[in-house]
Amino acid sequence: MLNIPAKNQITSNKSPDNNELKVHKRLNLRQFEEITPFNTYFQEEKPWPGYWGFSSNHIPSTSTINHPLQYNQTENLSISIPTHSKSGIEYSSFSDAWCKQLPHLSTVRTLWVQTSLSQDLFFSICKMPHLEKLYIQSSSLRSISAIVSLKHLTHLFLGHSPNIENLDSLYFLNSLRWLHLQSVPAATNLSFLEHLSRLKGLEIFGCPQNSDQYQLSSLFSLSNLFHLEWLTLEDVSLSRKELPALYSLKGLKYLYLPNKFSLKEVALLEYHLPKVRCELFRPISNPISEQSCTQCKRHSLVRLNGRGMPLLCLNCHPELIAKHKKLYETILTKINRLIANKPKD
Ligand SMILES: [Zn+2]
Repeated sequence: MLNIPAKNQITSNKSPDNNELKVHKRLNLRQFEEITPFNTYFQEEKPWPGYWGFSSNHIPSTSTINHPLQYNQTENLSISIPTHSKSGIEYSSFSDAWCKQLPHLSTVRTLWVQTSLSQDLFFSICKMPHLEKLYIQSSSLRSISAIVSLKHLTHLFLGHSPNIENLDSLYFLNSLRWLHLQSVPAATNLSFLEHLSRLKGLEIFGCPQNSDQYQLSSLFSLSNLFHLEWLTLEDVSLSRKELPALYSLKGLKYLYLPNKFSLKEVALLEYHLPKVRCELFRPISNPISEQSCTQCKRHSLVRLNGRGMPLLCLNCHPELIAKHKKLYETILTKINRLIANKPKD
């Protein structure tokens, strides 16, 4: 387990005033973070198996089958419908067989659909009486309104679904704990979140090649998610004016945001969410494994936090990196002091 310094571990001969104390407490945690590889957090401190994203639960824990006749009454079911004729049987035959059988599979708790989901198949899935976890790799769905029938649904992964008109029906899934939306343009309107107050994990991924198309409407829809512990907003476009909406997420433990904010905006967010693990709260990232430095050829490039900051090499640019770290610390300390000294209303 990680050994996080106790918040009251402050070594000082004189007794600092309360404001000074707050600043020092925060810096103690930050100094600890400087020497701890970021990934370690996720290996050792996962609040639970971070469902669809981190523990790779999008890879089924059971073998994938093509036809209901292959199903052996297990709780976990992974299906893939051949898109080409297989053994002389056409796609429609496989699809029809699943549409008929799925509503009767009362044993199934977790279902992975590994091919593009049609509207008919979706209707059948929504009649599965005890379904708790549903993974949809991709779909041609226009409407997901039938999903309101899945009263026991706690985990949902919805991948590439460009045609879905809106996600309003999710509003009624009161049991939902973990929601992962990936390449779903309708996810940019977040109003469906207002009623999902029991949500613990929310992950919204846009498109890495074109994040501007995924402009999130308003993060204030997240304000009521008091139980939210894990939030990922990746490959999306996000107005910096929206960040204060996250200040109220006091239960949050893990936060992933695009590196599109100024150092001051990041420092303000860190001030309001001091217990949250967020990569942006570290002045530099871990070395980027998939890219090497053009000068020294080592895998020692790091990403600096802050909008528009370049990648720098730990080996070739140590002074610039040290300067950046110092700059972020200075901004953070100033914000801590300014807010701590601000008279209360
Ligand atoms: Zn280098």
